[in-house]
Amino acid sequence: MRYFNEKAETMPREELSILQSTLLCQQIKHVYDNVELYRRRMDEKGISPEDIKGIEDLHKLPFTVKADLRDTYPYGMFAVPMEEVIRLHASSGTTGKQIVVGYTKDDIDIWSEICARALAAAGADKNDMVHVSYGFGLFTGGFGLYNGSEKLGSTAIPVSSGNTQRQVTIFKDFGSTVLCSTPSYAMHLAETMQSMGVRKEDISLKAGIFGAEPWTEEMRRKIEEMLGIKAYDIYGLTEVMGPGVSYECKYQCGMHVNEDHFIVEVIDPDTGKVLPEGETGELVFTSLTKKAFPVIRYRTRDIGKITKEKCTCGRTFLRMTKPMGRTDDMLIIRGVNVFPSQIETVLVERGFYTAYQIVVDRVDNSDTCEVKVELPPETSFETIGDLETISRNVSEALKSLLGIVAKVTLLEPNSIPRSEGKAVRVIDKRKLYS
Ligand code: ADP
Ligand code: ZN
Repeated sequence: MRYFNEKAETMPREELSILQSTLLCQQIKHVYDNVELYRRRMDEKGISPEDIKGIEDLHKLPFTVKADLRDTYPYGMFAVPMEEVIRLHASSGTTGKQIVVGYTKDDIDIWSEICARALAAAGADKNDMVHVSYGFGLFTGGFGLYNGSEKLGSTAIPVSSGNTQRQVTIFKDFGSTVLCSTPSYAMHLAETMQSMGVRKEDISLKAGIFGAEPWTEEMRRKIEEMLGIKAYDIYGLTEVMGPGVSYECKYQCGMHVNEDHFIVEVIDPDTGKVLPEGETGELVFTSLTKKAFPVIRYRTRDIGKITKEKCTCGRTFLRMTKPMGRTDDMLIIRGVNVFPSQIETVLVERGFYTAYQIVVDRVDNSDTCEVKVELPPETSFETIGDLETISRNVSEALKSLLGIVAKVTLLEPNSIPRSEGKAVRVIDKRKLYS
């Protein structure tokens, strides 16, 4: 199956703009009537719902930021009475106090559909066994892909995260064909398979849908090689919906944004100015159809860019790049800006796996950075001299490619704790002093 919803996914862009305009006008009226914060913000700017006549007026609306959602915790941003809300989820709280979101029955249907689109784009159909290793609970990952699989009619295996050896046994015994998890957990599963002596030929996996944290192209290739699959990216966030806001097709050239349900903009994070297509900035989303917890111009703090260039797959939805990280994740080490994902690229390109940690500290008023990375399991330990050369080479590459001065410490395989959800890449001890 190529598309889950061919009509929507290949809608001509002019038609899509008309649809978005109609939905936006309805949504603005809905939030103005039902959410105090949106009404107040619009009143303050002197804008009424009638001033929004289509997507060309979107820029007139105020932004919404995470603090707004925290300040109105728990239910201040809900736009329907609780009797219409059939489910709650919450953000993982990676960057602070969690926020809680709600869904009506229609919202859940839309969410299921966009996840079904992602599964179909990864080649899944009714005959597939969809192994969901994202956590089930308040985190949106597990239920999102589970609902998508059910909508598509595949056989869902709601394994949730954890008990990694058992997951490998399930791969073998149940015949899982599509894996859904965080990319770091997919690596952990691949490593566990190796340690159990299970070869990729012994299992039936053919594709994986991975998201919820930044990961690099180098990591994608590593996962594809170790599990013998095609690895697809999926993006989403609790505030906007959960996984499925955008999804990759088989050409793996950026994620198609489900534009019949969301509008994406890219802005300059410092000035708030909307940037032209192709420029890198902060991704901003507006939900067009979600009713219980709609967000208007929500600033995600995720950094990426978009393109409207035609995709070979025939989908007309624009594509966004894999976000390189959130503005919150960006490290400033002695004045040099760097994302953990850029360090990951340098490491994996040099033959390391993806088990690494970055420790940043401040000693005598100067930043220090240590990159701890595990040696690949196949390394043969010959002489200590070799290890010194390896770490020096990595250190030099970090300096010349990213401009950061870092001490590189090589660790034995399996010495960094593995995460079952989002990996912890950075330990910033400087935060203890501020
Ligand atoms: P939290 O904000 O507490 O981590 P979420 O589970 O809602 O809670 O996480 C959403 C965030 O995860 C996004 O804003 C983004 O930073 C990150 N994310 C999700 N999917 C991807 C992806 N495919 N690539 C990179 N980052 C992603
Ligand atoms: Zn495509």
